[in-house]
Amino acid sequence: MASLRVDIYSDTVTKPTQAMRRAMCEAEVGDEQKGEDPTVNRLQEMVADLLGKEAALFLPSGTMCNAVAFAVHCRPGDEIIMDRTAHPLHSEAGAPAAISGAQIRPLAGTRGVFSPEQVIAAIRPPKRNAPVSRLVSIEQTSNLGGGTCWPLSQIEQVCAAGKERGLAAHMDGARLMNAVVASRTPARAYAAPFDSVWIDFTKGLGAPVGAVLAGTQEFITAAWRWKQRLGGSMRQAGVVAAACIYALEHHVERLADDHEHAKLLARGLAPLPGITLDADAVETNIVIIDISETGFTSEDFAAFLLRDYGIRVSVVDSMRVRAVTHLDVDRQQIMYVIDSVAHLLTSASPPSSSRRF
Ligand SMILES: *Cc1c(COP(=O)(O)O)cnc(C)c1O
Repeated sequence: MASLRVDIYSDTVTKPTQAMRRAMCEAEVGDEQKGEDPTVNRLQEMVADLLGKEAALFLPSGTMCNAVAFAVHCRPGDEIIMDRTAHPLHSEAGAPAAISGAQIRPLAGTRGVFSPEQVIAAIRPPKRNAPVSRLVSIEQTSNLGGGTCWPLSQIEQVCAAGKERGLAAHMDGARLMNAVVASRTPARAYAAPFDSVWIDFTKGLGAPVGAVLAGTQEFITAAWRWKQRLGGSMRQAGVVAAACIYALEHHVERLADDHEHAKLLARGLAPLPGITLDADAVETNIVIIDISETGFTSEDFAAFLLRDYGIRVSVVDSMRVRAVTHLDVDRQQIMYVIDSVAHLLTSASPPSSSRRF
């Protein structure tokens, strides 16, 4: 078993830097639940300003941002329109149903991005026996879409299609800042059409804990009650909020390096035998690799990379694996990954248990 050399499992694996840890050490703190933590308050103001919203709320995770926002927007039996690949549908333990009583209407988007026509077609007519279409939710960037950036004009059209028919709009901005850096579009322009929007600090921004949800003052007042109800109210949370402030001040522009590394990886892997990958479609820090023609299952492909080369990727499904670049990965490690995959595909014949045909 090789020791772990390159961890591109996710951008969540980053460790706080020494400078970030120092900022955490020195944070001024107070009782967050009472609104008395000056560092949390400062972070909330920074994010509200960044996103052009009246107010913002610090929460322990992005998952809780989605849960709180859906709970504020929806009543039991309501429907939320989102892409079929969206995070709340697959990776939040059924939270929309369990916490809000909402059901999800999944749309068949392209790389996680859907059209205003698809939204219009999915909105329910006002009938006694139909659920109420309440909310449109989009993911910027689309995670399982492969880090795709929603174009601003498409966001505006999709939100308008919903709004004209009485639906609110929500942005899961787990990687919004990746889209901001990749497209040179201001965060507040992306956020403008949304009633609620959040950013995650534990993805590419490299903080250990936290996400911030933003909206109108009225929305945030309602969100506070849900934060409390779900056990998301904290005490001296400035210790972790300080890491988020540090990330906003130091880790945004450098996301461009992650994007460059992802493109380098995609271009290096695309020509290898059995790999199906459109390197030109890689816009940010996520690379989804179809390995179905290599003769390996994705489980075995990932297992061999880890065992023989010390490279950790994640498995999306039986045909695809995902690699995510982040601040703890450098160019040299990317070159090592490309060489290792080339070696794996040309030297090893897949074990018979792994053959798909
Ligand atoms: C990671 C992620 C979340 C959840 O965020 P956590 O901070 O891990 O709870 C939600 N949506 C998307 C698109 C994500 O990638």
